[in-house]
Amino acid sequence: MEPAVFGRCVFKDKTVSIPLQSDSTLMFLCSNICSRFNELEVGAFEMTYLVPDHPPCVLETDLDVRVMYLSLMNEEKYTVTITIAIKEFLFPEKQNGVDDVFCGDGNMHNAEDDFIGKYAAPSGHTYLSQAWKSYINHVGQKFIGGVIEFREKLCKYAIEKGFKVRYLKNEKERVIAQCSKKVSDGCSWRVHASLCPTNGFFYIRSLNNEHTCKGRIRERTSSMMSSKIVSSVLVDQIQSTPLIKPIEIVKDFKKNYGLDISYHNAWYGKELAKKKVHGDESLSYKHLAWYVGAVLSSNPGSRCILDCDPESSRFKRFFISFHACIEGFRFCRPLLFLDGTFIKNKYKGHLLAATGKKGNQGMYPLAFAVVDS
Ligand SMILES: [Zn+2]
Repeated sequence: MEPAVFGRCVFKDKTVSIPLQSDSTLMFLCSNICSRFNELEVGAFEMTYLVPDHPPCVLETDLDVRVMYLSLMNEEKYTVTITIAIKEFLFPEKQNGVDDVFCGDGNMHNAEDDFIGKYAAPSGHTYLSQAWKSYINHVGQKFIGGVIEFREKLCKYAIEKGFKVRYLKNEKERVIAQCSKKVSDGCSWRVHASLCPTNGFFYIRSLNNEHTCKGRIRERTSSMMSSKIVSSVLVDQIQSTPLIKPIEIVKDFKKNYGLDISYHNAWYGKELAKKKVHGDESLSYKHLAWYVGAVLSSNPGSRCILDCDPESSRFKRFFISFHACIEGFRFCRPLLFLDGTFIKNKYKGHLLAATGKKGNQGMYPLAFAVVDS
């Protein structure tokens, strides 16, 4: 029987022991580490262990893991300390008088990679925010969604390009923004966009898209990453996964966009996205009185009852059964199934349904109700 060997994995101030065997693989080690340290992702960190009288030994392949195991056996040791570190992509020092060097991976300096800093995507992995780079592009560029679309795209562009925007004018009809390093570095980046009153679109009127400031870094956290930006990303997703949890949104942003967002931003961003897709919940309750009148006048014979608290006008319950459903039920089997479920929106309550059964075994909706408890 193999002796028990443990790798003590150390990251920041936390240590986790992982059992090792002669056939343990690198993927086994990585996936165990990622499951215990939530902030780590496979491929985004490196592991080293100490060998006496040598620089730290790296763990990059299955062979490295096997060699580590065998050397422990040779020395009759049963524990090894594995140090975990986030991979660094930053080369911040000025070289030979050349400043403004922030190459993504230490390759040749080129204008496009100029800004990429220490939080560039791990090699082989492209973040979905890559497209944000082209959101501010040329003079005459059109934004059909008006100032809202322009502001949103400007923020995403700045996040991806690694700089902060300072607004000189931020109005519904006109936005003028410059790089936040205009004062400190004299950066000349500047955009001016305004509304075309005839069609309601926003157009870029002038743009200087060249930065003369130093040290632009695409960071994981950005003050411009507001819940509005989160919601704009979530809008397409919320229809297919309406029950996604804020903590899953935080993880998705980290994995797919390389951005750290707060729980609050994720929660509020989701609420905003839901509002955009499904409409405002409070407004829907407000429209119920109108809806009852509309059903009763346009669909005579229906039962539609809205019950509110007489003093506070607060919603209590709502019942609806359409005329056609009432008529059709006479031809159903003499059975009525009653069921209820919790409503998981902000206002809670229960959804009750009365369902019949047709002659051909199908379900027949008769009535439903929303009640407060
Ligand atoms: Zn700048």
